[in-house]
Amino acid sequence: MTLEELDKAYVLHTYNRNYTNFVKGEGSTLFDENGNDYIDFASGIAVNSVGHNNPVLVTALQNQVEKIIHISNLQVIEPQAKLAEQICKLSRYDGAIFFANSGAEANEGAIKIARKYGETKFDKKRYKVITLEHSFHGRTITTVKATGQESFHTPNFSPYPDGFSYVNGLENVYANIDDETVAVLIELVQGEGGVQPFEKAEIQALAKYLKAHDILLIVDEVQTGIYRTGKMLASNVYEIEPDIITMAKGLGGGVPIGAVMTKHKDIFLPGDHGSTFGGNYLSTTAGLAVLEVLSALDDGGQLTETLAYFTVKLQEIAKKYPNLFDAEVGLGLMRGLRVKDNDTMKSIIAKSMENKLIVLSAGRNTVRFLPALTITIAEIDEGFTRFEKALNSI
Ligand SMILES: *Cc1c(COP(=O)(O)O)cnc(C)c1O
Repeated sequence: MTLEELDKAYVLHTYNRNYTNFVKGEGSTLFDENGNDYIDFASGIAVNSVGHNNPVLVTALQNQVEKIIHISNLQVIEPQAKLAEQICKLSRYDGAIFFANSGAEANEGAIKIARKYGETKFDKKRYKVITLEHSFHGRTITTVKATGQESFHTPNFSPYPDGFSYVNGLENVYANIDDETVAVLIELVQGEGGVQPFEKAEIQALAKYLKAHDILLIVDEVQTGIYRTGKMLASNVYEIEPDIITMAKGLGGGVPIGAVMTKHKDIFLPGDHGSTFGGNYLSTTAGLAVLEVLSALDDGGQLTETLAYFTVKLQEIAKKYPNLFDAEVGLGLMRGLRVKDNDTMKSIIAKSMENKLIVLSAGRNTVRFLPALTITIAEIDEGFTRFEKALNSI
């Protein structure tokens, strides 16, 4: 069987896959089995935050796997404790962390914290969570219900858990709050929903209002976190201190990890939550190495330079091809180009792949760019050369 036949025979068909067989990566370049090089502007959907084959990450993992990969959360895990400290310090957040294995699981933890807060802090239980249209919070039954896109709530998987409602735009959160509302769950830049950032002033006003009314603000930083928007967390960029923050994608540099961080350190008691794999030696060692690399890039100013350079390039493209693009959107190295229509967006992505450049799609007809935060100027230039070739062939 060919690899494609093997995949189709034995792997469930939940993705419309591309069948290029990548065998090696170096920085922001990927190589297929025939030795062709591809520029990677996707970084595994914001996961390979330090690029492929990063020496700091690889060495840290090699050293750790020779010792212990996993014990369990019944024992203390040194890199887990150190990673929790690092995340709190770098985000300047006075909180504590629970480690999971994915973004959806981190959000599940956040919802559990909020629900218990609503149970224990008020005479009448508060349990409702408000989310936003165009949001994305995961694929478990609960997080898919929290996702504010009707197409995700297919009757195929019903019934869904109660207590979630969606509003169109931040300005409509207020009127939706009732005496059973415990939390508002938002992304600061809606990733899957079209790389759409919210206004800083609107976010700050909402945060202030919720605090005054003792309603929790949960910020889903699964995609925006770990320097993706230019600082450790998008919450740092927006200068807010949410009650609960979730992270995942970029944190492990490719090793599965999720994290839920909260300032409400005493809500969870032993037995309230758990995970077999969450925060094990492998994933938290990866997290420590990733943060070492990225915090150094931030301190040295290279991160700011990279994202400024990438943004200017993208703005030039948007201006040069007004027939294709309506707008340039995003924050930091989480960016998008809004395309006139869905068919054109799909053909831009296909033509990019033909020209050996990997880009992604997102909602609202957006071509999405999520390069590694370590991407070099030369890789950015080469990627955009290929992108223009793709655009010129449309
Ligand atoms: C990707 C993503 C998730 C889901 O993460 P998984 O690791 O796929 O479970 C949740 N929220 C946001 C904002 C995401 O971008």
